[in-house]
Amino acid sequence: MKESIIRNQSSAKEKQQVRCCHCSSSLTIRNGTYPRNHPRDDTEIRVQRYLCKSPLCPWKSFSVLPESMMPVVRQSFETICCCAALVTTGMNQAQTARFLGCTRGVAKRLRIFCQKFMPWFSREKTVAEWGPDPPSFWPDFTRDFSQSFFPGRWVKLPSTQNIHC
Ligand SMILES: [Zn+2]
Repeated sequence: MKESIIRNQSSAKEKQQVRCCHCSSSLTIRNGTYPRNHPRDDTEIRVQRYLCKSPLCPWKSFSVLPESMMPVVRQSFETICCCAALVTTGMNQAQTARFLGCTRGVAKRLRIFCQKFMPWFSREKTVAEWGPDPPSFWPDFTRDFSQSFFPGRWVKLPSTQNIHC
């Protein structure tokens, strides 16, 4: 896939403390990794999994995706933005697939997804702390993304979790 944006924020990422995406606790420990295919070059990468040790946490474990890797949709952030740009130029499905180096089926799904993702991203990046563009705080961005687009994965989270009387 053709990528025009290459980012290197590993030093900033390393400084950022790992926090549980369900309760924001920093009482976390590493708990192994699991394999994922990198969305851009199809090489295998290891995704770090963590256990949350906060007794108040409703979830107990979470994982942290490498920067630029989007949860659930298994595409890179750059690929999604690139596809959205292609849609605005009027490029059709077959042309988009050729440009991105993917199948027409993937291009079709991506084009549909971009039409939901880009308005959300444009709105959220102006108010969220992970903004502006590209997101500076990848774990926070992927949590907000996942909660907005796949809320069914977060049903265990009580709405009163962070309220202390
Ligand atoms: Zn937690």
